[in-house]
Amino acid sequence: MDIAEQLHTIQQNIKKACERSNRNSNDVTVVAVTKYVSVERTRQAIEAGVEHIGENRLEGALEKWEAFDGQAAFHFIGTLQSKKAKHIIDKYDYLHSLDRLSLAKEIEKRCPEGKKIRCFVQVNASGEASKSGLIPEETMDFIEKLRDFPSIEVVGLMTMAPLEEDPEQTRPVFKRLKQLRDDIQKQDFDHAPCHELSMGMSNDYQVAVEEGATFIRLGSTLVGRDKANG
Ligand SMILES: *Cc1c(COP(=O)(O)O)cnc(C)c1O
Repeated sequence: MDIAEQLHTIQQNIKKACERSNRNSNDVTVVAVTKYVSVERTRQAIEAGVEHIGENRLEGALEKWEAFDGQAAFHFIGTLQSKKAKHIIDKYDYLHSLDRLSLAKEIEKRCPEGKKIRCFVQVNASGEASKSGLIPEETMDFIEKLRDFPSIEVVGLMTMAPLEEDPEQTRPVFKRLKQLRDDIQKQDFDHAPCHELSMGMSNDYQVAVEEGATFIRLGSTLVGRDKANG
């Protein structure tokens, strides 16, 4: 699979989804999730025009950052153990999985002087037991509490939708996340502008874009999948 061709196809699909929903396709950022692929394959993605890299585990995250620091923005998209946070937060630009105060404390402690960590609060918008993230009802309260952590900027909400045969089935999950994001935005919190929605993966990104996604996280459909990890 040629990444440049695949990226082009995805961009066309994003454009069409934006036309269907009256959105501007410039408001949708593609994060290439490279957890299943090598450094070499990641290099090809960057050469093809990818500007955002996503990783979900510490080891792969450090490997890709060491290879491409300065050539892309880096997104940590997986669950982050508090004790591992120190390895990530001085290097990565975005954290998509802030879901507890203990992690916020660790970020605050480890954040380099003068830096702000752009965080998405992860929400379990589907209610599936296997998914991490806050339940929607707890999210507003959690975000209010993040006011006490000056190194954290809450840029938006993130969710992982259940994997459905028919991506249409995930639409209500995306709608719920957007509604919640809109409610939080209305509060006008200084520490939580909360403009962004990180939602949509390979199988359901077109529905996610129709429902307002501003960051979509694409692994297998964009860079392929050679490794079993992730
Ligand atoms: C692996 C992963 C993705 C990408 O998955 P694909 O289905 O391969 O696009 C997106 N988000 C998170 C949090 C992931 O762990």
